Amino acid sequence: MGWFSKAQVEEEEDEIEPVQFKGALNGVDPNLKANQRLVDAGLVAAKDLVTDALDQRADTIRLEPKGAQAVYSFLIDGIAAPGGRMPKSEGMAVTQMLKLLAGLDIKERKAVQSGGIKAEFDGKKFQLMVQSAPVADGERLTIRCNDQAIKLNTPADLGMGDAMKAKIREIGTGTGVLLTCGPSGSGTTTTMFATLRGIDPYLYTVYTYGDIGGRPLEKDNVAKFEAKEGDDLGTTLDRLARAEANAVYIDPVNTPELAKTVFSKGEKILVLAETPAKDVFSAVTQLVEWTGDATLVSEQLKGIISQKLMRALCPKCKLAYKPKADFLRKAGLPETVATLYRKPPIPDSEEEDPDYEACEKCSETGYFGRIAMFEFLVVSDEMKAKIAAKAEPNEIKAQMRKEKMITLQTDALRLVAEGKTSLEEVQRVFKAT
Ligand SMILES: [Zn+2]
Repeated sequence: MGWFSKAQVEEEEDEIEPVQFKGALNGVDPNLKANQRLVDAGLVAAKDLVTDALDQRADTIRLEPKGAQAVYSFLIDGIAAPGGRMPKSEGMAVTQMLKLLAGLDIKERKAVQSGGIKAEFDGKKFQLMVQSAPVADGERLTIRCNDQAIKLNTPADLGMGDAMKAKIREIGTGTGVLLTCGPSGSGTTTTMFATLRGIDPYLYTVYTYGDIGGRPLEKDNVAKFEAKEGDDLGTTLDRLARAEANAVYIDPVNTPELAKTVFSKGEKILVLAETPAKDVFSAVTQLVEWTGDATLVSEQLKGIISQKLMRALCPKCKLAYKPKADFLRKAGLPETVATLYRKPPIPDSEEEDPDYEACEKCSETGYFGRIAMFEFLVVSDEMKAKIAAKAEPNEIKAQMRKEKMITLQTDALRLVAEGKTSLEEVQRVFKAT
């Protein structure tokens, strides 16, 4: 037969160009020639894995050894999607290969390492943020796939509300400590970068100090501060203050010692950092505990931001509906909201809705991409008093409500009212925690 069968043609059309790796983000040349055996064992499998993930629009890839095998899984818009498995040796080769491509030390398998790979897929540029971490029988690899066309750089990109943007700018004019917190993978670092840009690095002198996740910020008028050899963080912060820096972004404040140092320098400079805490309330109590000085924290802490991600409605197929006043009241939405949106129902049969067309953009999931809702604890005079009095997390939460600060709940409803997501998605996200 001179013709391809229909199935063959479709298969041809579905042929996916594999991902192309374009070098390590840290500029370290992945010396492929010197690692020919690893390249032979791992490059094709690594490309297959990443290609499969990007083709499915995955934001995260995880690969780790489990017994005699290695299992991998994807997150798509933050929702776990089925992955697969491969022989353990292949999993190890893929892990080592991706570490090499990310400019990491492939001989080091007992320490956490992080880096990134520039990549291209389907005409789009990606940054693959690679992290390896030791586990019982090998290493776990986590890759976050950042589509460079999706800009999440500024407060506006992240969809922060106007009140929040204004408050960040205001804090940016002074000194003290401004933190972001949240569970890992919730976008804490992205929020910190956006916050940093929110304080206008063109108006103020802003530095970064430390590793800060390996992201270059030079193009944003943020300079990297090189510490003098032998200087500790405290001395460096003093030096920055003397150099008339307005603000500095440092590596996470994750130990009592770091917290003590940072808060003791808070009156000289604005320090921005992440801190590991599940929410803003527990972050405050943790900082008080770490520093052993509630008054110091109350005086120097300016604010803590946390965020939670949820799925954004697919712009192509989202369905408008007119909510009843009673419904709005129950949901806690203002009665002025005229239109809400939801994912369109999928009919059971063609008779049910002959006009139904499956949405190709979101593969009928109704959602496409993610958006963040924020929580912003601002240290007002009243909040200052609460912190100084060593208030419990629930008292801090109550104070935030009293002062109508932005909470995850209020911010989620803002996004529903703006038509960016659905009430159903908000309910799903809050139920999951
Ligand atoms: Zn859609």
